[in-house]
Parts: sequence; structure tokens; C-alpha cells
Amino acid sequence: MNFVFNNPTKLLFGTGKIAELHKEVMQGKKALLLMSNGKSVHMNGSYDKTVEQLKIAGVSYVEFAKIMENPLMEVCEEAGAFAKENGCDFIVALGGGAVLDSSVAVAVMATNPGKLWDYVYGGTGKAQPLANKPLPIITIATSSGTGSEMNEWGVICKEDTHEKIGFGNEACKPVIAVVDPTFMTTVPVKYTAFQGFDALFHNTEVMMSTSLNILSEAIALSAIENIAKYLPRAVADGNDREAREHVAYASTMAGITMQLTSTTAQHSMEHAMSAYHRNLQHGAGLIIISKEFAQCFVDRHACDDRFIKMAKAMGVDSPTSPQDFVDALVALQKACGVDDLKMSDYGFKKDECMTLAINARETMGGLYPANPYEMTDEDVAGIFERSYK
Ligand SMILES: [Zn+2]
Repeated sequence: MNFVFNNPTKLLFGTGKIAELHKEVMQGKKALLLMSNGKSVHMNGSYDKTVEQLKIAGVSYVEFAKIMENPLMEVCEEAGAFAKENGCDFIVALGGGAVLDSSVAVAVMATNPGKLWDYVYGGTGKAQPLANKPLPIITIATSSGTGSEMNEWGVICKEDTHEKIGFGNEACKPVIAVVDPTFMTTVPVKYTAFQGFDALFHNTEVMMSTSLNILSEAIALSAIENIAKYLPRAVADGNDREAREHVAYASTMAGITMQLTSTTAQHSMEHAMSAYHRNLQHGAGLIIISKEFAQCFVDRHACDDRFIKMAKAMGVDSPTSPQDFVDALVALQKACGVDDLKMSDYGFKKDECMTLAINARETMGGLYPANPYEMTDEDVAGIFERSYK
């Protein structure tokens, strides 16, 4: 029953909500408009609508459109320096998870000296406190997956040391988040599925977590129910607005549950995978290991009642066994066409499993205490091995 709830982000949620952004209090006169190096914000109309809102609000902006999938430390530092040179007062992060995640690092680097890794906890990070307040952040989400529109966390990669680390600071909680499903109808089928499963796992991991509380459980079960019901529809027809809305809701709510309750080592494990194989999408990596990860806890009866609750949320009638959750998970993967992803297709070799297990603990060991059963490196390597195809 004990928890701390501190989410000051004002959320504008729903179809057409972008049109209300100009009515909000802007965080200064000049924004850094942070975007990816792709074309999606031009295809989905979000760029034009965002620029229009900034103009109505009397805000000028400079654009930095270089954020890539699995964003690198260096590009965040470059964007931070760019914001500083241009005298930006705040950041408008427009895009999917990679852009929203990066905004945290950019906000810090725009006002603080040194390198990003000076402020990173975990791995080879120096864990220094911030010298200066980061720039305020407004997020405009164009996909449903990371939930970072609502929280202070971002995941950044350091290529030379194979580190992919969750980086955050309480001062980086976005001031405003806009989640307008209008922008999500153009997300390709494959990414809709990958991102939707990322959102699912944020919630299922919260449910398995040792720090679950009454509030995070209520939110997570609601999110799981919505993803199980609507993700197959969003995958089958990207223009199914109702399905997009419900998946977006579940994804954004995960941003809140993850502030109440830690995710588990499943995320540490995926970070290791995409740190070594940068072509692997985060959601795809999670899908690949998810069955065996859950099975590990089911076999040990680590939290039977919670698996049963999740199975019920996923639509299983009167579930009685934790195995019902694993079966429902596999069925949902089949319904979304992602039940046959192969590690070998992404260049993994089977003899990498222990290297990945060690990296997962060294880089993202902070999530291990959330596991409902104390996992050894052998347990983790075993999950990779059994997931290998
Ligand atoms: Zn994730």
C-alpha cells in the first residue's frame, strides 16, 4: 500500500488534441524542435500541426532532426549544444519513443557541462548530480510504445562500450504531453506490433515487479486489457481510429505505472540485445524473450496470482493457472503476426547468450531487484538460449 506518486505532466489525450496545444503556457519564446532523421512526422501530419501551434502561441523554433532508432549519446550531446548555441528556452520533442527518450538527454546537455555519461547511473556512467536545471520538455507522441511522453526516462546508447541505459532525472519530467492518435494511423504494421508489445511489457513487468502497489496494479491491468483487445485490430488496420486510441491510452498509462513501479530484468535483457545488435528494434527484442522470461517465473510459482490476474485482463475466461498468461501472450503474438521473430535474423549467435546476460546485469542491474525471483546470470543466459531461433 506504500507508494510515491509524482507525475506533474499535463496530458492532452485524444483525437484532435494537438489543436489545443497553443492554449497552454509555453516554456519560453524559443523552442528546440527535436525530431527523428526519418520522414514520419511529415507523412502523418504532426510536423505541420505542431509548427502551426507554435506559431499561434508566438513561439519561434529551430529544428534538430537527427535522432535515430536506439539513439546514441553523441547525437544527444550534439542536439544539446545546438539548443545552447541557438538560445532555446525549451524542447518540443515530436516523434516516437527514440525522440521522446532523447529529449531527456538533450534537455540535460543543453544546460550542463561535460558528457552525458558524466550524469548516467549504471554501467560506466559517472553518476554525477546535475549542475544546472535541464530545459523544460513538451512531448508530442507519434507512436504508442515507450510511454516516455509521460515520464522522466529515456534510453540512450553508448556504442563503444555496448551500453544501452535508462537515463532519467526528476527534473526532466515533461511539462506537457500531447498524445493524439491521429498521428499514429500511418505507423507501419510491423512497428505498430513491436511498439504495442513494448507497451504491453511495461505493464506486465510492472505486474510481476516486487514493487507493485495498489495503484500501479490498477493502471497496469487496465492497460493490459486495452492492448490485448485492441492491438490486433490496430495491426490489422492502421486506420482503425478506435483501436489506435485504446493502444495509445495503454502505452501512455505505462509511462505512469513505470514511475510508480519498476520494470524487471526483461528490459535489462533487451537492452543488452540491442546494444550488441543495433538493428534490433526494442519491441522486437522483448517479444523474442518474453515467453521464456515469463515461463521462468511461472515455473517457480514466483507470483501465480498476478499471472492469473493478467490472463483475465487479456481476455481468458476464468483463468486458474499462471500458465494461462503465457498461453494468452503467445496467442496475442500470433494474432499480431510476431510469433516467429528469430534472433538469428538479427545476427545473433547462440554462443553470445552469457555475454548478453553479463551485459544486462552490468548495465541495467538496477532492475533486477524487481524480479519476483532472484535471477542468476545462468538463469538469464538460459532464457536467451531457450528463446534462440
Ligand atoms: Zn520498453
